Amino acid sequence: MGKIQDYVIKNNVKPSECTYHTWRDTKNSKKELTGKMRVLVPKNSTMAMAEYTCPECKHSDYIEQEWKRPFYIKCAKCGFRMGVPKLKKEAKKDAKGK
Ligand SMILES: [Zn+2]
Repeated sequence: MGKIQDYVIKNNVKPSECTYHTWRDTKNSKKELTGKMRVLVPKNSTMAMAEYTCPECKHSDYIEQEWKRPFYIKCAKCGFRMGVPKLKKEAKKDAKGK
């Protein structure tokens, strides 16, 4: 972990300059919060940067992949799938602004 943080500092990325940014705990198959993931999608980018610690096997990794909903990242070691939840708040904000 730390690559996204480095990117944020290096490029002086502000929250308002991101299409999507989340940092959350992730659950394993027993619904225990044992993992972490951070996802950052810079504005004007279709690529998501994602860092995670797998809740199943504790493998930590950094990946870049195409940003699309629903968004999932797969543990490179055990294949466990971690998703980001749908943002209800985001949808509301969009509706309000139009
Ligand atoms: Zn894993």
